[in-house]
Amino acid sequence: MPLPEPLVRLVEELQRLPGIGAKSAQRLAFHILKTPREETDRLADAVREVKERVTYCSVCNNITESDPCVYCRSDVRDQRVICVVEEPQNVSAVEKTREFKGVYHVLMGALSPLQGIGPDDLKIKSLLARIDNGVAEVILATNPTVEGEATAIYLARLLKPLGVRVTRIAMGVPVGSDLEYTDEITMQKAIEGRREV
Ligand code: ZN
Repeated sequence: MPLPEPLVRLVEELQRLPGIGAKSAQRLAFHILKTPREETDRLADAVREVKERVTYCSVCNNITESDPCVYCRSDVRDQRVICVVEEPQNVSAVEKTREFKGVYHVLMGALSPLQGIGPDDLKIKSLLARIDNGVAEVILATNPTVEGEATAIYLARLLKPLGVRVTRIAMGVPVGSDLEYTDEITMQKAIEGRREV
């Protein structure tokens, strides 16, 4: 028995979501079908509202309800220090520390030749455009992955000639872990990033 057309369409749309394969999409679609109308309306409203009310900051590409975002228009944040991250959700990770008082620049990804993501696919030009005499430091807080590292190295090469201080976040042993179980690359990074106590 072929599925009703609206159900087929829902499965197709769900399957476009990251990490959702054909089977999961079908499971979700049948779940939505048997869910009470009020609940599915809430889901549909939430999807519509996020597209209507949340946008990207025209300065730093962070997600925001008002453009420019709270960080970019803040006069208590240090606009001379820019922390570069891969995705908007990384901003909240840095914010959680309450240590960082500067502003952000979201690249919207990382360089990945395998996935065909090159410099032009990332928000690199707009980062370079933000570097003027006022900017004192750029902190490269891309992920400690092959792609994140490559992106950091690439950016450092572009940024340093502009006369700005370029730093990379320290990487190493997670707090509360045991050195015995630390892999050798992490240990190597931890040794490299050691500091005076
Ligand atoms: Zn912003």
